[in-house]
Amino acid sequence: MQADILRFAAAHLTPYRLRGDELIPDYCPFCHGGDSHDRYTFALNLRDGVYVCKRGGCGVKGRFETLAEHFGERAELLRPAASPRKQFALPDVELKPLTEEIILYFEKRKISKATLETFRLGADEKGNIVFPFFRDGT
Ligand SMILES: [Zn+2]
Repeated sequence: MQADILRFAAAHLTPYRLRGDELIPDYCPFCHGGDSHDRYTFALNLRDGVYVCKRGGCGVKGRFETLAEHFGERAELLRPAASPRKQFALPDVELKPLTEEIILYFEKRKISKATLETFRLGADEKGNIVFPFFRDGT
């Protein structure tokens, strides 16, 4: 609820200030402070989504959903759709020093330890060979 309201407020109620759980735009979005341009008469509660204008000549009150509709937005559409996409994380393998096993493995293939070090080969925690790849020479 709170995130929806803040997103909505950023789009429609700026400038505003936050006081406790209340979001208070400079001007009520309905009466705009009336003829005397009263400020801070409107408050939208971040927790329950209830809004009210304390100006006598206005006195609007309602729920966030109604407010969103007033601005042509449907409250449920303000919520970001749950993303079915998986977050791709870069493989997080800690490069460990070469194990004896790996060095022997390459020695049998006529690849020296020096060569392995040149290519900065390493091992992961299971003793698997890790070939780091470098982008842009880093
Ligand atoms: Zn008002």
